[in-house]
Amino acid sequence: TLTRQKETFEPLTEGQAGIYTCGPTVYAEAHIGNLRSYVFPDILKKTLRALGYRVTHVVNITDVGHLTSDADTGDDKVEQAARESRRTAWEIAEEYEALYWRDLERLHIEPPDHKPKATGHIPGQIALVNKLEEGGYTYRTDDGIYFDTARFESYGAMARLKVEGLREAARVEMGGKRNKTDFALWKLTPRGVQRQMEWDSPWGRGFPGWHVECSAMSMEILGEQFDIHTGGSDHIPVHHTNEIAQSEAATGKPFVRYWLHGEYLVLGEAERMGKSEGNVLSLQSLIDKGFDPLAYRYLVLNNHYRSYLNFTWEALQAADNALMGLRRLVEDLGGMPVGDPADASLAGDLAPDSREAELLANLCDDLNTPKALATLWGALRDGGVPDEEKMRLARFGDDLLSLGLGDASRLEALLDVPDAVRQMAEERWAAREAKDYAESDRLRDLLAEQGFVVRDRKDGYDLERTKV
Ligand code: AMP
Ligand code: ZN
Repeated sequence: TLTRQKETFEPLTEGQAGIYTCGPTVYAEAHIGNLRSYVFPDILKKTLRALGYRVTHVVNITDVGHLTSDADTGDDKVEQAARESRRTAWEIAEEYEALYWRDLERLHIEPPDHKPKATGHIPGQIALVNKLEEGGYTYRTDDGIYFDTARFESYGAMARLKVEGLREAARVEMGGKRNKTDFALWKLTPRGVQRQMEWDSPWGRGFPGWHVECSAMSMEILGEQFDIHTGGSDHIPVHHTNEIAQSEAATGKPFVRYWLHGEYLVLGEAERMGKSEGNVLSLQSLIDKGFDPLAYRYLVLNNHYRSYLNFTWEALQAADNALMGLRRLVEDLGGMPVGDPADASLAGDLAPDSREAELLANLCDDLNTPKALATLWGALRDGGVPDEEKMRLARFGDDLLSLGLGDASRLEALLDVPDAVRQMAEERWAAREAKDYAESDRLRDLLAEQGFVVRDRKDGYDLERTKV
């Protein structure tokens, strides 16, 4: 994102890659839009590892400090959810954090090496604010300690913010702030109020700002400078802009070498899926409709992470069909054990002109997962490719893409259909064998009206209920 172009990855330390991914705010169940933002770092990490890097991946848990408004006003999201459900903020955070890790597991997203919680790293955050204060980057208002963005020369460079315009147009929602872009480092608990989550600090009782937590935890674990930082595209203008400003102001060094941002999942006319938009779908709601969570992973991977992904049930059904098609191809090759990603082969072992090398090259090109899937499909359906070669590719591809290609369980369940439907499917197969494609297409449409999909394979077909 910094340079708006593809760059060659050069790590700070040879052979190693440190990655920080902004994790969820645990005040509600993650929606499938949120979850999209954790799939591409998973591909990134598996790709780097296949290239031989030792990867350290951090995903934080935001359990305090994320306010309902980006202008540093409003309520803390976790405290608000606690009040609404008459539970404690700690219970809310614990419950939704557990659901988050559960969903990642269902999506075959590998757990990170470190999972720091903001509430578990308060001293580090206070130390960072202290350092900024010593450097003269802060000022105090009635409600907190703020970062003075006018003191940081390159403020907003990554987002290409027109800071001057922002500052002049900014008389609203300023509170005691000097510049509209200034942000809270430490919020003070108002007099007479007791928050559930609050701590003593040199400035008084209160809690850390959301941005400061990511700077403090990432630098604590990965060092003052590290390789890669990821998040959703909404983080570019505010959250990550502020992380850069306060980290670089504190250390005097460039913070992160490469920033990667995933684009939104949207519904219909570019309407962002979001809790404030009131249009959220959870992964569980997809499962409740009968979908395999990995069908959602397939849908995500079949779209490049930097493009909008328009979610529809039809698209999810199509992704499910495609996933089952791939699993069928693998099963027809004799099946393969459900892979353990820890076994992933290394790039160094691949013949340069092999299909595995091609698939890895797709991913090395800014994580081009749609192309990697196309490479997989192309080879598995190509009659000219020997079976062992197909198998090797399927295994290698699944180590990286983690689609459970060796899972044949649903293929067997496909036999469970009513006789009348089975008969129609048999007639369609006969028509197809007789090369009467008009008739076979007509019967395919009829089956679709009955709520069934047919998927042809070499010597027969699979039949399954559609889910939508
Ligand atoms: P939050 O839990 O609100 O802190 O968000 C967690 C992650 O989800 C962040 O990286 C956001 O940028 C990302 N995110 C939020 N909405 C969407 C969406 N509709 N599509 C993709 N990512 C999103
Ligand atoms: Zn963050």
